[in-house]
Amino acid sequence: MDRQIELHHFSVQLADCPKADLPEFSFSGRSNVGKSRLINYLLRRKKLAHISGKPGKTKTFVYYRIDERFNLVDMPGYGYAKISPQERKRWLAAAVEYLRGREQLRGVLQLIDLGVGATDKDVERLAFLRELGRPVCLVFTKADKVKKAEREAKLLEALGRLEAPPGAGVVVSSAVKKLGAREIWAWLDDQLALPDVPGPR
Ligand code: GDP
Repeated sequence: MDRQIELHHFSVQLADCPKADLPEFSFSGRSNVGKSRLINYLLRRKKLAHISGKPGKTKTFVYYRIDERFNLVDMPGYGYAKISPQERKRWLAAAVEYLRGREQLRGVLQLIDLGVGATDKDVERLAFLRELGRPVCLVFTKADKVKKAEREAKLLEALGRLEAPPGAGVVVSSAVKKLGAREIWAWLDDQLALPDVPGPR
């Protein structure tokens, strides 16, 4: 299906996020988890979100408006070692403030590298999302790097560590093999069909 996609806003913190009332979903994950490449695959753009061998580029919240209906929001990744502690603290604080306070946020796509598994920081982020009561879809990335026969065991191991909230979506994806986009769009559509409850639930 062709979707109308517009890259339309950059924010450095919650206070600069767009005031308009469209619902939104954000991408959360460790730097290098494959967030940029997944976004490009989902939006069928080669270079909309910037991919590089160097992780940690998303310093801002990047808004993509989809069909004038909702926003997908790339947010700063966590766990990137090659920045100053002050900068890391600032990004984390901005992410926490956004996840806690953004009223338009209707769900979070939490990315986990299937091959690497759930890191301590992933477990921590998911615990925070659970505490906030945010609807979550766990998206396991880079599935092509794991042998097919080993994927299920990897998935179960990560799910066990993560203690996913009840009702969380689970999608196995690969931007290289083009796996998972249909399931992610379906999860987004399901969330959009639910009645909106303002603020974190
Ligand atoms: P970000 O820091 O989370 O935005 O990660 P990127 O999207 O920039 O990806 C980090 C690295 O992982 C890059 O070298 C990507 O080419 C690679 N990568 C991303 N997605 C996949 C995937 O599905 N399969 C494989 N094999 N590599 C991927």
